[in-house]
Amino acid sequence: MAWTNKIPVLAGTPDEPVISGTAKDLSPITKVWLTIKDETANRYWNGAEWHATTATVNATEIAGSTTVAWRYTGLSREVMRSGIFTITAYAQDKFGHTGHAMVPGRNKKKYDLGSITVTNYTLNVKEVKNKYRTEGPDSFIMKAGEDVVSVSAEIIPARLAPTLDPMVNWQVSGVNAVSGTPTPPQKGGHSEFYVRNPVIPAIPAGRGVPMSYTVIPRIDYPDVYADDMLITYYSQDQRNITQDEIDQCRQEYVDMNKTTRPDRTIFVDFNTYTGLGTINFPFLEINDGQYSWAIFTIAHKLQDVMNDFGLKMTVSSGYRNPVDNDTIKPTGKPNSRHIYGDAADIDISSDAEWLKLCNSAVKEGACIEPHSMAPGWVHMDWRDLANCGDVWPHKPDVPCGL
Ligand SMILES: [Zn+2]
Repeated sequence: MAWTNKIPVLAGTPDEPVISGTAKDLSPITKVWLTIKDETANRYWNGAEWHATTATVNATEIAGSTTVAWRYTGLSREVMRSGIFTITAYAQDKFGHTGHAMVPGRNKKKYDLGSITVTNYTLNVKEVKNKYRTEGPDSFIMKAGEDVVSVSAEIIPARLAPTLDPMVNWQVSGVNAVSGTPTPPQKGGHSEFYVRNPVIPAIPAGRGVPMSYTVIPRIDYPDVYADDMLITYYSQDQRNITQDEIDQCRQEYVDMNKTTRPDRTIFVDFNTYTGLGTINFPFLEINDGQYSWAIFTIAHKLQDVMNDFGLKMTVSSGYRNPVDNDTIKPTGKPNSRHIYGDAADIDISSDAEWLKLCNSAVKEGACIEPHSMAPGWVHMDWRDLANCGDVWPHKPDVPCGL
């Protein structure tokens, strides 16, 4: 007795899965049946529902005699859930009539046609990124146009994606206390969330750490064994999105309600700051802040002042991030030009030197803080001259005085 068989194949569409195979014998095969076991739930499919004890279903189609192709089409997407299925097929043949009473034990033969294990799907994170940034790191701040994070899921195998995609939900949680909870994404494999938490005032020290979120997708589906109660399948994959250092700094301008929220491009770091090179006003001198990034747009202005002044000038305070500026009381004014990178404090050693440096700076178009507010140094900045303010009298038409 020779026979061959193939293990069953699970194929078809997600809506209409088809289990199929072939069986071969020297005598006609009359019947093929299967056990379909959901290993995750330890239940057997009986053609209508899932059972705790072993159940079988007959093949819905058999074609052929000694070689048959068979199919089972009694499953549907609605009754299948995430999990691992073990499918085993059996066949039985029938001998010709010999005149003898058929002995039940001999006229039927059962072949085990083999089994296959099918893992339903894998859910991964495909992408978590700032929706509006086409380049640079996946970072963000709470500012219109920079506060939307898009998320997308990857479902393997891809043929299941159209079915499972709409069932994807997202869990987004802050990784630290200062990140809060963002507006959650809508359902679906491609969605987005909004980072629009309340601002955190600078006192005592701002957020202190970058805002950061962990993103985990999951699929919620009705449990066919429990009155369609929702079961949640969490992905084993997750992704973080975290503010980079520039955005952590820029977040301070939002949190502290500054009049201007600088763009990323205006920031320079130790490596990219060119200013005047490192001869005068090097990066470590002009950056008074707490980050390795700074805004400093006035190196050439300072050089012009220094050329007129005639003495070496050293910046004692240049750029300050807002939280740092807030710690400098009472001189660190809420919208000090130091946080916008066009101010510098230059230490002097006498009132005569103060007057000389003040006049040199005014000549180069700077606003100068009055001597009464800054007796040991000269604060100069290059805001719009018209906005120097009445309490800052030293303008081109008002000579410097003590
Ligand atoms: Zn100053």
